[in-house]
Amino acid sequence: MSSVLASLLIAVDVGHYAAEPGVLSARGRPEFEYNRELALEVREALLAAGFTVRLIGERGDYAVLHHRTRDAKGAALLISIHHDSVRERWLPQADQFAGFSLFLSRENPARAKALACASAIGARLRAAGFTPSRYHADPVRGENRPFADETNGVHYYDKLAVSRTAAMPALLVEAGVIVNREEEARMRDPAARRRIAESIAQGVQQCLS
Ligand SMILES: [Zn+2]
Repeated sequence: MSSVLASLLIAVDVGHYAAEPGVLSARGRPEFEYNRELALEVREALLAAGFTVRLIGERGDYAVLHHRTRDAKGAALLISIHHDSVRERWLPQADQFAGFSLFLSRENPARAKALACASAIGARLRAAGFTPSRYHADPVRGENRPFADETNGVHYYDKLAVSRTAAMPALLVEAGVIVNREEEARMRDPAARRRIAESIAQGVQQCLS
């Protein structure tokens, strides 16, 4: 284990909470359950890489958004784990939407580092066989969120609270589109989840070393 990395704390935030569990998957399972499963796997991968990890919100009790960034205090990086949906009008065609995406706010005080980490994570996910979703940049199919790094699926989302209000580099990962039936099945596969978590940990290692 690297003693340099062990001194670095990574905060892993489980998106949403029990009373507001995020989007419902194609089969009706709340996003929060996916976020928690992946966050636990990300923690394992980061610990294995030698980091110290603080999990935030895994018990489903973080209803107040800014408590997440508050409790990330002291972390070298805050990663918020989510799973994706599509705009309501596109839900009937949700199976056409797939892939991961990464978001950060241009108002994050450590924006350059946040972008470096998001790009590194996206690059590792691509190397592991995953594909950026890309539709969030589209004004019709998505929300017109500009690319910060198009190749690696990174977007700017300036009002993103978890990135905007954090004191440290902070980004959000949408691991996959769970309103897409096929992708939902993939997100439930423990082997795929492990590959996603390991890619995230490798990206973190790369951007922080
Ligand atoms: Zn979410």
